[in-house]
Formats: sequence, C-alpha cells, structure tokens
Amino acid sequence: MKEMGSPPNGEGVREGGLDAPTRHPIAWREEVFYDQHSIDEELKRVFEICHGCRRCVSLCAAFPTLFDLIDESSTLEVDGVAPSDYSKVVAHCYLCDLCYQSKCPYVPPHEWNVDFPHLMLRAKAGEFRQGKVGFSRKQLTNTTRIGKLASIPVISEAVNGANRSPTMRKLSSGILGIHREAELPVFHRHADTARKRVENLSRISVEPKSDSRTRGRVAVFVTCYGNYNTPEIVIDLVKVLRHNGIDVKLVDQEQCCGMPKLEIGDLASVDVFKQANIPLLSDLVKTGWDVMAAIPSCVLMFRQEIPLMYPEDADVQAVKAAIFDPFEYLIYRHRAGLLNTNFRCELGRIAYHAPCHQRVQNIGPKTKELLALIPGTELEYIERCSGHDGTYGVRNETYEASMKIGRAVFRRAEEFDSAVIASDCPMASARIAHGIAGKKLALHPISLVRKAYGI
Ligand code: SF4
Ligand code: SF4
Repeated sequence: MKEMGSPPNGEGVREGGLDAPTRHPIAWREEVFYDQHSIDEELKRVFEICHGCRRCVSLCAAFPTLFDLIDESSTLEVDGVAPSDYSKVVAHCYLCDLCYQSKCPYVPPHEWNVDFPHLMLRAKAGEFRQGKVGFSRKQLTNTTRIGKLASIPVISEAVNGANRSPTMRKLSSGILGIHREAELPVFHRHADTARKRVENLSRISVEPKSDSRTRGRVAVFVTCYGNYNTPEIVIDLVKVLRHNGIDVKLVDQEQCCGMPKLEIGDLASVDVFKQANIPLLSDLVKTGWDVMAAIPSCVLMFRQEIPLMYPEDADVQAVKAAIFDPFEYLIYRHRAGLLNTNFRCELGRIAYHAPCHQRVQNIGPKTKELLALIPGTELEYIERCSGHDGTYGVRNETYEASMKIGRAVFRRAEEFDSAVIASDCPMASARIAHGIAGKKLALHPISLVRKAYGI
C-alpha cells in the first residue's frame, strides 16, 4: 500500500502542487486497507491538512461537518475530535470527486498526498467490512435486482402506485429508510424497458467510418437506470447515433457498473460486477466496437474507479480507453467532419446542468459545445452539484442535507425563463425538477438533440 506523505507541518513543503495530478491505485485487496486504526490515522492526517486549508467548505456537507467538529472541540484542532466522530464526515461524502478534481492543491504528486474521495472510500469500505452498513442501504443499491423485479408486469404498477401513495411512502420510510418527500423513479414493465424497445427498432446497416479517436461502431452500455427507469434516453441515444451513420448495438448481459455499491464501500460486490462486465466489454473493444453509456457515473466507473482497483488488468485498461460519454463522442465526430449538423428544429431556452461525475472526467463541457451547434438554442449553463448523488439524495438521514446542497442549482434553474431543465445525469435533472416543484420538464440532452434533428 502507498506510504502516505509528510505531515503538514513539514518544512520545505511546497504550497500547492505544480505537477499534473496523478492517482494512486486503490489498495482494496490489502488487509491494512480495512484496518480501522490505520484508517483513523490517515483520516486524522488528512483532516489536519483540510483544517488548515478549508477551500472545500462549500462543496458538500462532509467538509462543514468536519470543520464544525473541529471548531466545537476543546482544543479547536483535529486532536480534539474523537475518532469515533470521523464517521460523521464520511457519511456525508457521496464520492462525487469534485474536491480532488477541482479544488485540492495537495493531490499527488504533491508530498502531502491528499486524495480525500478515495480516503472516504477506504473509510466506507472499513465500515462495510465491520457490518456497519444497514439492510436498507444494501437493498437500495441492488439496482439490477430491483429493476428486474420491478419490471415484472403488475409488480411495476404496484411499485409505481406505492411510490405515489403517501401511506405507502410512510411505510417505505420506516422499512427502507427512503425519505417520504424524495422523488423516486418510475419503473417500466419488461416490454417497455430500453432493451425490449431497442430490439423493436430496425437495425440500419451502415459502413462505419472511423476517425483518429472513434471507430463509428458503438456498443451501448444500457445501465440499470436507462433500462428500467428512463428507456427513452437509450432510444434517443441509439437514434441520434444511427442518424449520424454510426453502427449501434446494445451490450448483452451487462450487470450494474458497480457505482452504487462503491458508494457504500461494498468492494466485494464491485468485484463481482467487474468480473461479469469486463470480459463482455473487452471482447467488444477487441472486435472493433467503442463503448458508451448515457449516465456519467457509469462511464466514470469504467474510466476511473475500476481501472484504479485493477491497475494491472489489461482488459480493464482496454475498456477504459474505449468508453465514451455520448457528447464527447459526438464532438470527436464533429471535429472529424463526421457529425450531421442538419438540425431542423430550434431548441429555444434550456437550463442546462453539467453533472459532477461528467465534469470530473476531464473531457471539457462537450454537451454545451454540441448544443451550441443547434441554431436557436440558448443555454443557462449551471456547473454545480445538484445534491442528488445516488442514495444520498433519497435516504432519511441525508435527504435534507442533499436538498440544501442543491438549493443554488434549483434557484438558477427556476429563475432562467425556460420550460426545460436538462442534465446528462437523469437523476440530477429529476432532482432539480423536484427542487423546483416540477415547474420544468426534466430531459436528457441527447433527447434534445434527437428533437433538434426532427427524428
Ligand atoms: S468527493 Fe464530493 S462529496 Fe466527497 S468530500 Fe469530496 S466534494 Fe464532498
Ligand atoms: S480536500 Fe484539499 S482543497 Fe479540500 S479542504 Fe482538504 S486540503 Fe483543502
């Protein structure tokens, strides 16, 4: 396991790193990774650095929780905070990665070696190992299983009906810990899932054109949420890609990307999903397909977290190199002169939110760039956390905090005179629509592009 850096009071330590950030592999297979004493020592070391810095105070509730613990302690320093209280900070981190990617000057290779999100992940993994993650959180993160069950006809109607019923919501708040006011997704019957609906679309035979970055053949990783909750996004993605002369098929037999399990520190389950997905995806890559998913968290999982868990695995690295965000892909095609820019409908005014898990991929604002190509389109560009972030946004313990984090985004979305709020993350756009009492229609930007094409 990587030795941690010098203490923050070391002389000669540079203020802020000048070199490009790097990331150490996640040492999840080493026993010391889960050792509580070792985790607490590392938390204390990093908390001391954060206490002296405080740049991240506005990003999420983890940092204000830490600084309140310090400021209310008898010593006014980290040594005055009981290690048993460190978990209060960990509970408010939903691994958005923004502090690492956008704020922290002390990330590796700086000698202080601060990787706050991955330290939170380690602490979560320690808690999971010790059985501190409850039944409801384990169930809520079984997204494939929930989707399969809830797509059975009759059950889907029952689930959707229960989610709309105040009485049933009171019950699920008690049993599953889902906040009564949190917005919940609609589940589609098996016949209406993305997989079934794409099967019914006619496959267009095209001769794929490649360019320096893309191969013109895309296997869509459907995602649990895309398949069971928002099939229209997958349909729109397939249609837009085919309209651009790209050969498209869906990845067969895929499992959850593992992000929901990562967020609760259940790394054994992440491993199970990795063992199922990587052989499928790497075979596709080896046979000439690029891979794409319309949910940024799932792309981030294959692009960053799984590669850091399996740095020596060539198949994982091959998938990392061949997976794309949809708009990143379309912009590469545009730069190569391969994008159809014959947009027939204007989009008007759109409140557009760039989600954290897309921003931290360091691909630049590609959705904004593409939407700007559509005539008669005016964007309000909102680059701030919506507060949703997986189960954090719906659980009893964190719903209020998550709504507080999203408030600034809700206000900007509401004040901009538009009928639509769009985000590449459908959970984020649903949260924003919820935060403004459903005053705007939540759409994925790929659905807007399909609309602009008039297809
Ligand atoms: S990763 Fe995101 S949620 Fe976690 S501490 Fe950093 S900014 Fe906060
Ligand atoms: S994570 Fe980095 S930037 Fe954020 S408070 Fe800690 S030391 Fe400062």
